[in-house]
Amino acid sequence: MAIAHFMAGSKLLFPQILRTSLLVKLILWNLIAGTNLSAQNIRPDQKPNIILILADDMGYGDASVYGHPTIQTPNIDQLAEEGQRWTNFYVAASVCTPSRAALLTGRLPIRNGMCSDKRRVFWSSSKRGLPSEEITIAEALKEVGYTTACIGKWHLGHKNPKYLPISNGFDYYYGIPYSNDMNKTQKMTKELYQNPKISYYNVPLMEGDKIIERPFEQHTATKRYTQTALKFIKENKSSPFFIFLSHSMPHVPLFASESFRGKSERGLYGDVIEEIDWSVGELIRTLQEEGLEENTLVIFTSDNGPWKMLDEHGGSAGQFRGSKGSTWEGGMRVPAIFWWKSAVKHGVIREMAATLDLFPTICSLTGAKFPKDRVMDGYDLTATLLEQEESDRDEMFFYMGRQLFAVRKGNFKLHFKTREIAGFRKYYNMEHSTPLLFNLGEDPSEQYDIAAKYPEKVKELKKLAEEHLRNIEPYDDQIAPRDGDVGTEKF
Ligand code: MG
Repeated sequence: MAIAHFMAGSKLLFPQILRTSLLVKLILWNLIAGTNLSAQNIRPDQKPNIILILADDMGYGDASVYGHPTIQTPNIDQLAEEGQRWTNFYVAASVCTPSRAALLTGRLPIRNGMCSDKRRVFWSSSKRGLPSEEITIAEALKEVGYTTACIGKWHLGHKNPKYLPISNGFDYYYGIPYSNDMNKTQKMTKELYQNPKISYYNVPLMEGDKIIERPFEQHTATKRYTQTALKFIKENKSSPFFIFLSHSMPHVPLFASESFRGKSERGLYGDVIEEIDWSVGELIRTLQEEGLEENTLVIFTSDNGPWKMLDEHGGSAGQFRGSKGSTWEGGMRVPAIFWWKSAVKHGVIREMAATLDLFPTICSLTGAKFPKDRVMDGYDLTATLLEQEESDRDEMFFYMGRQLFAVRKGNFKLHFKTREIAGFRKYYNMEHSTPLLFNLGEDPSEQYDIAAKYPEKVKELKKLAEEHLRNIEPYDDQIAPRDGDVGTEKF
């Protein structure tokens, strides 16, 4: 009651402010929320629905609006036209599991434990799961009245039900618990990957914590995820909802439904992207039909750069060097579009941001509680989204597993180590005794090492990396072993 009075008083005191921009309203709202306003006092109609679309292994250059010459993505392009298209947007890791963990928790994988352990130095801990003490975006949103769904690929643990989406803030889950190329039924060669069959992968399709189909008929993956999302929108339109639509494509093996197969000039990879584009169109059309387009934030991005080991079955990083599994720009920089008809100020945004920033931004836009009991690694992008103000992010740390490979501040990026492809599923690392320095403004393709020319810049970035590492407390598997690693269900 006291809170209600405070709210009423605020409106009397600041009527003019409340008639100004949405940004001012949100700032005022956050100030009010900061005074221990409880979640249930926020009116549901003030909170936007959120649909977070995550493509898997889609490269920076795979949509026509990001410059692809032959793949046609009219619906993604339309989102960009009406919303914001970002050109300096990063993931926190260039492989699936740590990238997704960072996106959902707003914390670097080295803090949340979803990066490599000693046995698998560079890859992810996908054989375990997201520690239960981590807070996901879905958990934060549930606290303020959202109904939440995870549709599609999870890959944050599956060997115990406590790792699944329904134990991590999602009311509803429909999808595959890990990558579509896992649980192989035979030894895979490059040729088999490039001529995929459903029977090569014993991947389960799950609803909640139950397996409903196995092997998953992947030809209809994108179509069925989309139909499920549309149904969820229609059934939950009366209260705020959060949908994490996590496509399992275009991660190999590539599969497209009959309506898209053989249609794209770019071949099967293009068919797959064009079906994801169709999915975006269906979502927007449904939001319009249901009268939700003014009150829904749609975010479209990818979990890492393209997987180039399979030739034309992998996507394009545009003009960026490197690919999935490396900390070159091509592995870490991804497409990112924000669309919210009544609020996002449309344009092309060249500010720096990362999937790590989605957690604080979503908290700011919804009144969800921002965790204060742990180190968070994101920045609130609200002012950039609503008013095109400068982003607070001016630096980015590029990890490979537990190791810091590179750091960026402003336009300068310094590589201590790099990772290169040596063939099909073969990689090697290069340690640079003299780190490599690139100016991403003048040289976005990281072609011209200018370390010798700018020793002061090298020193500055080295210092930044050292300071960062001094303040990192890695998640320690030894100190905090995750119980229940061995599940009862055979996945
Ligand atoms: Mg991926």
